[in-house]
Amino acid sequence: MEFIVSPLYSEEEVHARVEELAGAIALSVPRDVMIVALLKGSFVFAADLIRALHLRGLTPQIDFMSLSSYAGTESCGEVTMRRDLAECVENRHVLLIDDILESGRTLAHALESIKARGAKSVQVAVLLEKPGKRKVEVAADFTGFIIPDHFVVGYGLDYANFYRELPFIGVLARP
Ligand code: 5GP
Ligand code: MG
Repeated sequence: MEFIVSPLYSEEEVHARVEELAGAIALSVPRDVMIVALLKGSFVFAADLIRALHLRGLTPQIDFMSLSSYAGTESCGEVTMRRDLAECVENRHVLLIDDILESGRTLAHALESIKARGAKSVQVAVLLEKPGKRKVEVAADFTGFIIPDHFVVGYGLDYANFYRELPFIGVLARP
């Protein structure tokens, strides 16, 4: 089954928004913030965001965590840890980066585990947010775009591990 991807935010629009987010984030996290990016979906967003933060004088350390709650286009509810942090977050100010906030289960799980390890503070930046879908109470401090309830791909986000390479964000649809 072939799909079509209809553009939602162009490469230029995404770039401009990431720059704005970096400006806001740089004002509210310390220079030596520890960045934790959730794999795999946030890797493109995180890569652009950290370079935009560098241009604003930040010198972050970076780590990754891989959590999974999705099968196909449906969240299955249970979050499993596939790869844990390699760095220590105790006494660190952390910026947690994810691709999209939907039910909130993924972020809540990541937040809990980072706080449990003694982080001094944790702020959250997400590229996308789908309102009205929250199953767990969790909020992002920085949000790129609030989007309607469609399944989106591109700019790191996948369907069956495809479409991550697209430089724009689009809605996956059947032709
Ligand atoms: P939550 O745990 O908040 O329900 O779901 C968040 C995770 O589900 C995201 O990190 C992302 O990996 C995945 N996800 C949720 N909505 C979408 C979507 O529209 N497209 C894609 N590709 N992934 C999504
Ligand atoms: Mg994800």
